[in-house]
Parts: sequence; structure tokens; C-alpha cells
Amino acid sequence: MPKIMQLPLGALQTNCYILACEETNKAAIIDPGWNGRLLADTIKENGWELLHILLTHSHFDHVGGLKELKELTNAPIHLHPDGELMLTHSHEVAKMYDLHYPIAPAADHPLQAGQTIAVGSLNLDVLYTPGHAPGHVCFYLKEHDVLFDGDVLFQNSIGRTDLPGSDYNTLMESIANEILPLPDKTHILSGHGAATILGTERQNNPFLH
Ligand SMILES: [Zn+2]
Repeated sequence: MPKIMQLPLGALQTNCYILACEETNKAAIIDPGWNGRLLADTIKENGWELLHILLTHSHFDHVGGLKELKELTNAPIHLHPDGELMLTHSHEVAKMYDLHYPIAPAADHPLQAGQTIAVGSLNLDVLYTPGHAPGHVCFYLKEHDVLFDGDVLFQNSIGRTDLPGSDYNTLMESIANEILPLPDKTHILSGHGAATILGTERQNNPFLH
């Protein structure tokens, strides 16, 4: 069974997720937004082995803990290649908001659509969902109906498309092609705010009508 921890971190309270396989004690961290040491300590205290650091996208508020976490665990960082340039500049973007963020380390492995990432006996499918940010991906734990969807679909909202590199029509296409075909019972674990259920969003989310 999967164990999932949600930790809102950093100036924008970005949701970081720790996904652990309870059978094998292997784990992955999705979007280490801040406080890499807390994340590394949490992995250690639970007796888990961190196999992957996964990025849905490279906005500064999703990668602020990356440097520290990488230094402490040396786990490989996975990012879609279209997000690499933004990762390089993430600390500069943070500075525009008067926030001091570390220079992020480069990704180790390029993510691609259709790829599967194994976390012990759990499998995460990589869905390619650009629009909010270049190279945005979602991680789909199909067997357990969980979608780590970054900043694509939120409870009653969608990701911003007024930022450099974002595009509303592309985002809506990603939602239509990659997210809406998933079952109603899918748990949507977003990059900000509360978790929701896809069936609820299908009915209530004003951006889906
Ligand atoms: Zn974002």
C-alpha cells in the first residue's frame, strides 16, 4: 500500500508529497518546495530509502528545497527537459518576489510522457500536461487512483496562465486530454490547497464548464 504525506512548504505553502511503498520502504519526493532538511529527516526517521526526487515543474516555489535535499540524499532529480531552463533561473524569479531561494541543482534524468517511475512496488505513470509551465507533468498512481497533478487542476480552480511560459489553451488541452479521461474516483493531490476528487471537480469546477 502507498503511504502519502502532504507537507505545505515555503513562502507560497506549496504542497510537497512524500510517497512511500510500505512493502519495500522505498520512497519518492514530489516537488520539494522548501526545507530539504525536514524532508530528508522525515525519510530517515521512517526508515525509507529515497529513490527519486520528482518535479511536476520548475517554478521556484516547487524547487526551493531541492538543493538541500539533493545534498543530503544524493537522490536523482527527474524533470521534463522543457522545464530545465526555468529551473536554472528559478532563484532569479524568486528574487522578483523579494524571496531568497538557492540556486537549484540541475536535473539528473529527463522525464517523458508515457514513462513509468517505480517506487518499490508502486508505479507512477508520467502524464505530459504543459500549459501552466513548460514541461509540466503529472504523476499518476493508477492502481490506487491518485494523481499528483502539480499546478494543473485545483479544487474549484486551475493553474495560473499569466506567467512567462504559460498558456491557457495549452493548459485546457492538457486537462481535456490527460486528466478528464481518468476515473471520477481519482484523488487529485495538487501543488496548492486541499486535495479533491476528480468527479467533484467535473461537477463543481467552474473552469471545466
Ligand atoms: Zn507553478
